[in-house]
Amino acid sequence: MQINAAEVLKTCQSRKQDLLTFLEKIVMMESGSRDVDDVNALGDYLAGYAQQIGGSVLKGETTETGYPMSISFHCTPYDKTRRIVLGCHRDTVFPHGTTVKRPFQADANRCHGPGCADMKGGITIGLFAPQILQALGEPFNRIPIEIVISSDEEIGSPGSAGFIGHRCANAKAALFLEPARPDGSVVASRNGGSLFEIEVFGKAAHSGNQFLDGVSAINCLAEIIADLAKLSNDPEGYNLNVGLISGGSGVYIVPDYARAAISTRFTTLQQRDFLLQSCRSIIESHEKPGIKITMSKPVGFLPMDKTPANQALLDLVRKAADKLNLSLTSSDVRGPADCGIASCMGIPTLCGMGPVGGNLHTALEYLDTESLVERLALLCLSLIEIDSHYQ
Ligand SMILES: [Zn+2]
Repeated sequence: MQINAAEVLKTCQSRKQDLLTFLEKIVMMESGSRDVDDVNALGDYLAGYAQQIGGSVLKGETTETGYPMSISFHCTPYDKTRRIVLGCHRDTVFPHGTTVKRPFQADANRCHGPGCADMKGGITIGLFAPQILQALGEPFNRIPIEIVISSDEEIGSPGSAGFIGHRCANAKAALFLEPARPDGSVVASRNGGSLFEIEVFGKAAHSGNQFLDGVSAINCLAEIIADLAKLSNDPEGYNLNVGLISGGSGVYIVPDYARAAISTRFTTLQQRDFLLQSCRSIIESHEKPGIKITMSKPVGFLPMDKTPANQALLDLVRKAADKLNLSLTSSDVRGPADCGIASCMGIPTLCGMGPVGGNLHTALEYLDTESLVERLALLCLSLIEIDSHYQ
């Protein structure tokens, strides 16, 4: 079915003020990852809005970091209709109270406010896309879409990752609505990353009188760290960073406790496994009498690699962009995100399909105002291409 791109763009343009009003509303509803009441209140608001526009809402299990959710159009959360997943997250890195200092602001060029680009702009176009397709009429108003919304992406989606994977089971493709890069490019690949902690328990003793009775947890951790530092191979696409250390309780006490917080980055699952297994063997090699070492369960993100399936999806989205006379480029990004979950399941996946934004995670975060309309049009045309291309 042929679609007139100019008509799609015009329909999106006609909703510009509605897009901005909705974006303002959800930016002003703060939702820092650790502020679970805020994150849930925003989830409830999105659920109410979605129901008004004909979406069926599924709320996942509530965890310490809120509940993940999905909103389905022209399919239900419970049937097996092959659908296009739109991946979002509703948490931000900004704590409660940020909007008092920096409320939502918009002019013709840029919008500002906590999370405006990462990724409340993405949620906005995700929820407007089904409305635009509805306005375009048959057969576009029947495209099955499921918008999947993490509640805790900015801290590694500990409570949402399982839900996202489950919701992707019937996906024919997945577009993640993280912001497009400042140059307008979409995101073709992302690193994966893990976070975990190593804790060392030793034996305390007075450092003057009973020095030899003690077993230093700090010394042991230092030796472990020296070995961990040899694991990185950044040019090959993986590294390990010991970002935080703490331990000890006084300068005259042999320390019985030390801890390190560690992050890893990797391009492939093999690299992830290599890093984690190497950590475990290093820890084992430092076990000795009087010392106990534990490593917490890693949490984090899977990588989105440039698989043939992902590249084919990028080509389809480029085809949609051509119709808008938009020459779409793609970037490879180091920061990981939820898109790796879909990609590692073998589902054709692309990220950075939200509006254009920059200075993410800082007070200078911005969203390119005009791109709200442009990327909504691109999303709708991409949905149409994808729906007819994949069975
Ligand atoms: Zn994000």
